[in-house]
Amino acid sequence: MRRIFSDYTYGPGPRDGCWWDETCDIAPADAVRGQLRCDVVVVGAGITGVSAALHLARAGVSVMVLEATRIGWGASGRNGGFCCLGGGIASDATLDRRFGKDGRLAWRRCERDAVALVADLIETLGLNVDRHSEGETLLAHRARDGAGFDAAARNIEENYGVTPRIDNPADIGMGGPFHRALTVPIGFALNPRKYLAGLVRAARAAGVQFFEYSAVTQIGPDGVRTAKGSVTADRVILATNGYSSEDVPDWMRGRYLPAQSNVLVTRPLSRAEQEAQGWTSSQMSYDTRHLLHYFRLLPDGRFLFGMRGGLLSNPGAEVRARAAILRDFRRMFPAWETVEVTHGWSGLVCLSRAQLPFVGALPDAPNVLAGFAFHGNGVAMGTYTGACLAALVQGQSPDDLPAAIRSLPARFPLGRLRRLVMPPIYAALAIADRLP
Ligand SMILES: Cc1cc2nc3c(=O)[nH]c(=O)nc-3n(C[C@H](O)[C@H](O)[C@H](O)COP(=O)(O)OP(=O)(O)OC[C@H]3O[C@@H](n4cnc5c(N)ncnc54)[C@H](O)[C@@H]3O)c2cc1C
Repeated sequence: MRRIFSDYTYGPGPRDGCWWDETCDIAPADAVRGQLRCDVVVVGAGITGVSAALHLARAGVSVMVLEATRIGWGASGRNGGFCCLGGGIASDATLDRRFGKDGRLAWRRCERDAVALVADLIETLGLNVDRHSEGETLLAHRARDGAGFDAAARNIEENYGVTPRIDNPADIGMGGPFHRALTVPIGFALNPRKYLAGLVRAARAAGVQFFEYSAVTQIGPDGVRTAKGSVTADRVILATNGYSSEDVPDWMRGRYLPAQSNVLVTRPLSRAEQEAQGWTSSQMSYDTRHLLHYFRLLPDGRFLFGMRGGLLSNPGAEVRARAAILRDFRRMFPAWETVEVTHGWSGLVCLSRAQLPFVGALPDAPNVLAGFAFHGNGVAMGTYTGACLAALVQGQSPDDLPAAIRSLPARFPLGRLRRLVMPPIYAALAIADRLP
């Protein structure tokens, strides 16, 4: 597998210290050995792959899921647990230009449907995922961003058909350096590992076979190969998102851009400590910066705080990224300056050039379907994408999907060096965020 970060990124280092790993187990699986056969083989055991497998198995299709490392090892087992709108970052203006207003609204409906699908799976499968938060709250880090909330609320009404609420953050228990709070009543927070574990249990019960330490090295017209075996299948679903490779299959080369995101988690905060900061809300929230922070109080009183990761990935860069997130956390929540941070980790999100996800068959290999590029919001959109991939395998027409998610992703410039575009972009965004 040719990948665009160093081997360190794909090893245990960045993942070391992930709080979710301590909250629930996922039963292990064997590696692929010898020659196996099924209807559909899924590459990657994250939310997208497991959702696809579950939906297919429930329809009676025989499915095997092959994971390079452990189930949930990628972003799905180490994210912030915001089940929210998103999945793409293309603006309304861009969407209108490319797909027309109807196309934009069709994509916005997908975002809503994705959140509803997760809620439905949790309900129907009876999953305990430590759910909390009524929608998601955006906090203005500058007065002028807060002044824009009235117009933003009108856009949200048009896009999602809901009426957001605007509050003074301190009045709703969200004390910090924030000017106004805009709450969109769609979405909720969850423990992502418990959610994935629940999907895996349901998929196993429906007949899905999982294989760990079974990196797919080659995808062909008859299925996939690993170092120690092969799986013959009619269809292959590629669900590798930010952990994709340039050559599995070659078509992926240059079409995805992984970027790092970092998370820290504190020890549980007492009620008095929460009140000292003025943060008692269980809402999940993020700020208006381009390089945004995302944060929430977990049900056990721990505080989770996330932001973009570093540009490099190696042991030294990981230490620096963890120091940077700690600095931002303490600056934004000074009452918690001495509170111990017990956990910290990082992982890869995935961007596409069009700033939208892709769901569909590969043009040069119609037996292979892929779903990726959720722009840091894949809990809901990955689940939804998995369901879409399952529907496509079962004969649903791609034309039934919104145009926004079926346009073939173009390649980024600079090939394997494409990450070089990030430093100047991050620098420009950081400057924009600091302007008064
Ligand atoms: C730190 C962080 C915080 C985030 N916070 C949020 C959040 O709060 N809300 C939200 O909605 N999203 C969040 N995201 C994004 C979200 O986690 C992802 O969009 C989502 O998990 C993607 O799921 P996936 O199944 O497509 O990919 P992944 O979960 O990344 O799974 C891909 C899997 O494919 C495997 N793989 C790769 N190549 C091969 C191969 N050749 N053979 C076999 N297996 C292979 C990898 O090992 C990996 O396990 C966050 C991401 C990170 C990193």
